[in-house]
Amino acid sequence: MFTSNRLEPFGVTIFTEMSDLARRHGAINLGQGFPDWDGADFVKEAAVNATLAGGHDQYPPSPGIPELRQAIAERYGPLLGRELEPTTEVTVTSGCTEALAASALGLVNPGDEVVLIEPYYDAYPADVALAGGVARHVTLRPPEFSLPIDELAEVIHPGTRALLFNNPHNPTGRVFSRDELRAIADLCIRNDVIVISDEVYEEMVYDDAEHLRLATIDGMWERTLTLSSLGKTFSLTGWKLGWAIGPEHLTRALRSAHQFLTFTTPTPVQHGAVAALGAPTSFYEQMRLGYESKRDLLANGLRDLGFDVHLPSGTYFMMTDHPGEGDDRQFCFDLIESAGVVAIPPSVFYSDPKRGASMVRFAFCKGEATLHEALNRLAAVL
Ligand code: PMP
Ligand code: GLN
Repeated sequence: MFTSNRLEPFGVTIFTEMSDLARRHGAINLGQGFPDWDGADFVKEAAVNATLAGGHDQYPPSPGIPELRQAIAERYGPLLGRELEPTTEVTVTSGCTEALAASALGLVNPGDEVVLIEPYYDAYPADVALAGGVARHVTLRPPEFSLPIDELAEVIHPGTRALLFNNPHNPTGRVFSRDELRAIADLCIRNDVIVISDEVYEEMVYDDAEHLRLATIDGMWERTLTLSSLGKTFSLTGWKLGWAIGPEHLTRALRSAHQFLTFTTPTPVQHGAVAALGAPTSFYEQMRLGYESKRDLLANGLRDLGFDVHLPSGTYFMMTDHPGEGDDRQFCFDLIESAGVVAIPPSVFYSDPKRGASMVRFAFCKGEATLHEALNRLAAVL
């Protein structure tokens, strides 16, 4: 056995497993969350132009090029309701994935308790394990996936080091309410808990849902690291460019790990990100409307096929009950063989896989023709 004891239990991630199967079977991939279209040209041109102009081929500063930290500070200052200091409060990372790992490694001591809200993005328990922390769990339950505050209050105590929070929430699509955020804030303040708030789906909210940033709740700025990335909002998941925003003491902790994990993030991509963050409001609005209609297309189609859909208010994922006889993994493997459609079995997102066994997660960040074709294929076998 060569893999460390810390990582052995996590095996190969479900996203690698399912996307490999999709490629091998020539199946439609509604599993791993990435768009089947390209990112915007104005962003790519900025990266290319900066590269060809020269002078951008060597290590940039570890926390990110000053222009990008400034652009992040300018965009998020108004959103977080405060003036951000780019030199001490903004750090550029290699995707939100690196920001999550750097947060855990920089803030969590071996043996520290970290609260995870399940179902969770699969990197979360692995990051806690990398840091030697101990995960404690609170479960969101269908159909609403609302936060069970009483259960959170039972798990959080003065010895808790951190809460790893995700809003809008993958995989449930839940967008948490102001009351839920206030309750989290009260518990974290009372017990002196740090929050790592992963908000990568911040721009994907539908109907009358509103994304509220945890760091804007009274008393939370001092104890919150807000993480996001270019990947989701700008359809650039392959660029792996993320950022972390927070007060100087938390930023310092994150950077202490970031400097040894990657040291920095590729320079050309950082120049592209400066252009991306300058996008007009209409860019965000169009993206939101596009996803909302894809959500409705897939949700209506799945309902017509007899799926019990938990309509998401945010993200580009949809959880449904599945009609299979066996568990979620069985259902997903059968679906690849019979229909040539890949979905994600959500049991991997729970500490106890049984909790996810009756559901399946579909991604709707795919072209309408792809979604129609997937529905046709499902209709032929269900
Ligand atoms: N957080 C969540 C909740 C995600 O779903 C993802 C998706 N990959 C990430 C973080 C990772 O973001 P990035 O691709 O920027 O590393
Ligand atoms: N976050 C993406 C999802 O949930 C996948 C990220 C990854 O492939 N690691 O589908």
